[in-house]
Amino acid sequence: MSDEKTIFKKIIDKEIPADIVFEDDLCLAFRDANPQAPTHVLVIPKQEIPSVADLADSDAALAGHLLLVARDVAKQLELDGGFRLVVNNGPEAGQTVDHLHIHILGGRSLVWPPG
Ligand code: ADP
Repeated sequence: MSDEKTIFKKIIDKEIPADIVFEDDLCLAFRDANPQAPTHVLVIPKQEIPSVADLADSDAALAGHLLLVARDVAKQLELDGGFRLVVNNGPEAGQTVDHLHIHILGGRSLVWPPG
């Protein structure tokens, strides 16, 4: 991993602003700056883990926590009609920020398969 902070680490460190919808000791959830749906939120761990492929077995509790926070944020934002969780892993999947993040997308009908 490069020594340079990712944009998400800067958000965690409150060096750049974000529209935060949830925060606890382990993670942060904030609105995506380039939303792909009426509701588009990212859930990220505060720990610097670049991607799903970099998760260790010992991160099991944290990984589960992120999923449960995504569930709670979807409820908080009233995505009662449905929502989609997306985790892009690596360049071929379109991951552009090397800090693990779960996209929460909702508020419109979502097609399948994704591009
Ligand atoms: P992609 O850029 O192809 O969506 P990722 O899965 O890596 O790939 O998602 C990174 C997401 O981070 C993008 O949806 C992008 O809009 C969002 N993003 C980048 N910078 C910021 C920022 N400063 N605040 C909020 N969201 C951001």
